[in-house]
Amino acid sequence: MAPITQDVHTIPRKLPEGGLTNIVGLTRDQLRDALIAAGTPEKQAKMRLGQVWQWVYHWGVRDFTAMTNLAKDYRALLAANFTIELPQVVSRQISADGTRKYLVRIAGGHEVEVVYIPETDRGTLCISSQVGCTLTCSFCHTGTQKLVRNLTAAEIVGQVMLARDDLGEWPVQGAPKEEVRLISNVVLMGMGEPLYNFENVRDAMKIVMDGEGIALGRRRITLSTSGVVPEIARTAREIGCLLAVSFHATTDAVRDVLVPINKRWNIATLLEALREYPGLSNSERITFEYVMLDGVNDTKEDAYRLVELLRGIPAKVNLIPFNEWPGAPYKRSSGNRIHAFADIIHNAGYASPIRTPRGEDIMAACGQLKSATERARKSKAQIAAEAGL
Ligand code: SF4
Repeated sequence: MAPITQDVHTIPRKLPEGGLTNIVGLTRDQLRDALIAAGTPEKQAKMRLGQVWQWVYHWGVRDFTAMTNLAKDYRALLAANFTIELPQVVSRQISADGTRKYLVRIAGGHEVEVVYIPETDRGTLCISSQVGCTLTCSFCHTGTQKLVRNLTAAEIVGQVMLARDDLGEWPVQGAPKEEVRLISNVVLMGMGEPLYNFENVRDAMKIVMDGEGIALGRRRITLSTSGVVPEIARTAREIGCLLAVSFHATTDAVRDVLVPINKRWNIATLLEALREYPGLSNSERITFEYVMLDGVNDTKEDAYRLVELLRGIPAKVNLIPFNEWPGAPYKRSSGNRIHAFADIIHNAGYASPIRTPRGEDIMAACGQLKSATERARKSKAQIAAEAGL
């Protein structure tokens, strides 16, 4: 079945105007301060904060007049000062295997990609943290797109909200509570290096985890880093989600090419930081992502070396058959090689699932994401100003 592409310009969107403050992406403290600045009496602020928070993040309401437990004049005050704005969905593609890819537009006209992967026992949303990427991993399509800018917290949490819109996952008042979540997991494995946009990623994930709103448990969120060592422990302290590492090689010589940040923090330094990751345990293991590249990093020796490197770290290894993209300098390892590699890791006592490529027909598979946005003529300052960064 051919992938479905839908142009969603028809869906009406309320554009920010007149300097209204977007509620989406504000932390609880920021929203409280903004409500007070807009005229909410200080002694009511905590209650109003809770009410507005629930409407926006639990019920998914975008219209202040629908916030029926607030007095009409207070709803008018909110509408006069605030907006509830998400990134705009430019296109939505549905793969033959059910994977959905959204191309979304953010402030300044930049675009990023978001991918939803439904499975029998879960639904995973892969979200982006940057337009393009700070880094240039040689196996990754995003790595060929220069960094344009970091996403704001609003643009990161907005990806979760627009996917919930599309999947119809907001609870309906008076209807029985849905036991099964369509978006049961969120992974920061889309475009960009999340730890080079730490504060916005942290604030967005805290909103997604907040129990009065979207309420996704911290162990349902996985942040994937290529190895920004100074921010690794901070991730545990300030976000508390699970961690994945774009590892992909067992020698510095190979990893320097595949994941160039390795020249800054090499394998030994990275593993040391991971061994000290706060809260690490067998129930909260670190996921080592390992893309299988033909003749590059897929020998039995690589597998045995990887086992040695992981010694003492509660870990699992996700083996990712390489997903080709136009102009990619690599080929996927053969099925036999991938299984032989997986067996060695498994026999050493580590889970070594082989990831099933999903959404290949719509370029939604791991490492295939890239948007047409180029940094081109605009200066960094101009681009940052557009986003209010
Ligand atoms: S793998 Fe991640 S860090 Fe590396 S270029 Fe791709 S998006 Fe950036």
